[in-house]
Amino acid sequence: KDKGRNGYSFFTNDLAVDIEEKTMMIHALKASIDKKDEFFLLYQPKTSTLTGKITAVEALLRWNSSEVGKITPDTFIPLAEETGMILTLGAWVLNQACSDFMLLRNEGYLLEHIGVNVSSLQLQRDDFIKTLNDVLDQTKIDPKWLEIELTESYLATDADHALSILRTLRDLNINIAIDDFGTGYSSMAYLQKLSVTRLKIDKSFIDDLPLSSESIAITRAIIALANTFGLSITAEGVENHDQLCFLQDEGCHEIQGYYYSKPLTLNELKDYITNQ
Ligand code: C2E
Ligand code: CA
Ligand code: CA
Ligand code: CA
Repeated sequence: KDKGRNGYSFFTNDLAVDIEEKTMMIHALKASIDKKDEFFLLYQPKTSTLTGKITAVEALLRWNSSEVGKITPDTFIPLAEETGMILTLGAWVLNQACSDFMLLRNEGYLLEHIGVNVSSLQLQRDDFIKTLNDVLDQTKIDPKWLEIELTESYLATDADHALSILRTLRDLNINIAIDDFGTGYSSMAYLQKLSVTRLKIDKSFIDDLPLSSESIAITRAIIALANTFGLSITAEGVENHDQLCFLQDEGCHEIQGYYYSKPLTLNELKDYITNQ
C-alpha cells in the first residue's frame, strides 16, 4: 500500500495483474466511471492506399486514472467486462465517438465512417438496440457513418443471437466489421449468413509480411474470402513500407497502422486531415 500516486507504470503492459492490483484497479475503474472525466477517446486514421489519404477513423478508448495511472485498454477492458462496467462505459464510448464524428463533419472534416469497438457483453444485452437508438437520436449521426467492430469470439460463442442482432443492426443501416479476423475460427461458415460488411485482418498476420509464407497465404485467403462475399477489407497494424506495398499489390486498399498514424486526439486528427 506504499505505492505512490505515479508509481503504477508497471501496470501498463501487464496483462496478468495480481489479485491486489486487480481489486485496486476495479475500485479505481468504478470511481472513474462514476466521474467519467478520466476517460477519453483517441482516433486512429484509416487510409486509402489508392490516394494515400485518410478515409475513416477508429475510436480507441483511453483511461488516465488519478488513482492508478495510465492503464492500457488490453488491461482495463477485460476488467470492465468482468464487472459489467463495460455496459456504462461502452454506451459512453458510442455516444462520445458519434458526437465527435458529427462535430468533425459539421466543421467540414468529411470522413466516410467511424469505427467503434463494441464488447460482446454489450451486444448480448436486450437493451443494446435501445442504447444504440438513443445514441443515433442524440448525436444525429447517419447510421451509415457508424461501423461497429466486433470480434470473432462473439460470433463463435453465441451464433444464433449474433445472427439476429447483426441483422437488426444492418436493418438500421449500421455497418459491421469483424475485428482481428483470422484469429478465431468458427465464424467462417457463418460469414455468408451474417450481415457483416467488413473484415479487419489481424495485426499478427500483418507483422510477418512480406517475409512469412504462412502470413502471405493467410492474408491472401482473407482477401479472397472478403472478395467472394463482397466485403470491405482493412489491414491492421501496418508499420512499414514493405507491408504496405504487399497489401496494395494484393488489392487491400484500406490500411490502419503506425505507418500512416498512431491514434490521435480530436485536435491532432483535425490537423492531420488539414495537412494531408
Ligand atoms: P483493436 O480493436 O484491435 O485495436 C487496434 C489496436 O492496435 C489499438 O490498440 C491500436 O492502438 C493498435 N495499433 C494500431 N496500429 C498499430 C501499429 O501499427 N502497431 C502497433 N504495435 N499497434 C497498433 P489499443 O488502442 O491499445 O487497443 C487495444 C484493444 O482494446 C483494441 O484492439 C480493442 O480490442 C480494445 N478497445 C479499445 N477501445 C475500446 C472500446 O472503446 N471498447 C471496447 N470494447 N474495446 C476497446
Ligand atoms: Ca477494433
Ligand atoms: Ca483489431
Ligand atoms: Ca486486437
